[in-house]
Amino acid sequence: MARIIQLPVSVITKIAAGEVIERPASVIKELLENSVDALATRIEVDLEQGGTELIRVVDDGHGIEPADLSLAFASHATSKLRDADDLFRIGTMGFRGEALASIGGVARVTLQSRAAGRDDGAEITCAGGELGPLRPWNGASGTRLEARHLFFNTPVRKKFLKTHSTELGHVTDMVQRLALAHPHVHFVLRHNGRGVLEVPESAGLLDRITLFFGSEVRDKLYPIEADQGQVHLAGWIADPSCDRGNAKLQYLYLNGRWIRDRSLLHALQEAYRGLLMTGRYAVGFLFITMPADQVDVNVHPTKTEVRFRDSQALYHLVRAAVKHKLSDLNLVPRLQLPPEGVPGTPSPDADMFASRADDIQAPWDVVMPSGPTRAPMPPPKPQRAIQIHDSYLVVETPTGMLVIDQHALHERILFEQLRRRIRDGQLEVQRLLIPEPVDLPGDQAACVLEAGEELRGLGLEVEDFGGGTVLLSSYPALLSRVSPLDIFKSVVDGLMNRERLPSKEQMLHHLLATMACKAAVKAGDPLTGEEITYLMELRDMAEDSHHCPHGRPTSLQFSKTELEKQFRRI
Ligand code: ADP
Ligand code: MG
Repeated sequence: MARIIQLPVSVITKIAAGEVIERPASVIKELLENSVDALATRIEVDLEQGGTELIRVVDDGHGIEPADLSLAFASHATSKLRDADDLFRIGTMGFRGEALASIGGVARVTLQSRAAGRDDGAEITCAGGELGPLRPWNGASGTRLEARHLFFNTPVRKKFLKTHSTELGHVTDMVQRLALAHPHVHFVLRHNGRGVLEVPESAGLLDRITLFFGSEVRDKLYPIEADQGQVHLAGWIADPSCDRGNAKLQYLYLNGRWIRDRSLLHALQEAYRGLLMTGRYAVGFLFITMPADQVDVNVHPTKTEVRFRDSQALYHLVRAAVKHKLSDLNLVPRLQLPPEGVPGTPSPDADMFASRADDIQAPWDVVMPSGPTRAPMPPPKPQRAIQIHDSYLVVETPTGMLVIDQHALHERILFEQLRRRIRDGQLEVQRLLIPEPVDLPGDQAACVLEAGEELRGLGLEVEDFGGGTVLLSSYPALLSRVSPLDIFKSVVDGLMNRERLPSKEQMLHHLLATMACKAAVKAGDPLTGEEITYLMELRDMAEDSHHCPHGRPTSLQFSKTELEKQFRRI
């Protein structure tokens, strides 16, 4: 039988690190929290290769005394706690004294610091838990920490890391969470030397929300505020029309700390009941403050989960405050009106792309097969299709009748046209006279630039303009029915979901389907007779006219026999 032994410190550290440090973003979280605790006003983060190669955090906080540097890497060594009672009056982000020990246990770390008021600083290294000698360092006042080769000594952990762009995405989320909670701190995030986020100190909470999530979110926010005893709730909730497909834009903070709390997010979501379709999520930024002794933040190694003394009361407070606001606003369900003007013409904002006007032919040049690989189209045969509910085409067939979903069909047609032309190397690309600048959240910009080659293959040429802005200079001519910007944005969304699509083939299919969906006529678009005829012509030429690229049917058959049976003719 195996004997019981006391584990060596090196193993203990690795076990502890497993709880706290899961990926580069967890390192960033701990380091940023330390900088915030040190009252930094400016924090700069540099990453290389998604943080797997290098993570560097530089702050202008109060620094660490040279004599304390080596202790910083000892486990359960902290300047933020003195006795057990302090655990119930935590006012700092950190208090467990475990983070640096954990990071030093699984990376090669250099910690350099000059304490405020001193003219000399010191540095020390810690690689896989091994401390190096203390040396003098004369950098700027504040703290500078570099962690290289994360998980170099725990290869199994390293294997769990995802692509660099995914890891960068997690880091960006993390920096955004911190930056929303600390509006007076200037945050900078760079990846491989390229700017991802720049959040100046002057940017308050709303500016930060705009910076991270765009003005579409910012313009739809309503303030909320409520008090109950010593508990204070404040923040912003968004109009139901700003709903999302996931809960990512539900931000919850407790005493300045971003937390995960299923119950409180449920309260938020509940308050929107009846205003959102199932599967849609509200957007909200909720900040709760309460005396430190009413909550236990020491229940989770990364402190992202907390235990409230009275969670019921809190649930009701959140739900009531949000509900109250929404009912005050007297929101009536809003209908999406079809765009004004002639159906099938490009949206008004497309006018700025002057060059496109020339290649618009009736009714949509986009559905006309063209290019050297195809024979000219025969003139459309008269067909007896009619449009109903501005959404479906009903057409007589030799054996009965068909009801066609106009959007699904057009989507299918565009999808096949794009796929065929890309396969044949015949994709016509329309260049924009003036490249269009597109502001993206930093992680998305990085992801787009990384996928530059793939996007070029789809007819979308992008280049870096710096600071999260990319320049879009071309789009597939086939899709000129809608604005290139809309096409591009849908593709960016598609790119961000790439993790679910393991193979390149699947990714391409997904992006093509996304573009086709965006550019196709929508349910609710009235069509002219000519447009209907063109759609029907192209239906006959499609390889699979029965399913849209997402696999939904494009049409339903009703047989003549079925009709006759129903009318009791036979
Ligand atoms: P904790 O934050 O829980 O105290 P850490 O392991 O994260 O534990 O850090 C250990 C100690 O090192 C902190 O208590 C703090 O005194 C010091 N420290 C770490 N990072 C910084 C920093 N950026 N500026 C000043 N002091 C720091
Ligand atoms: Mg800490």
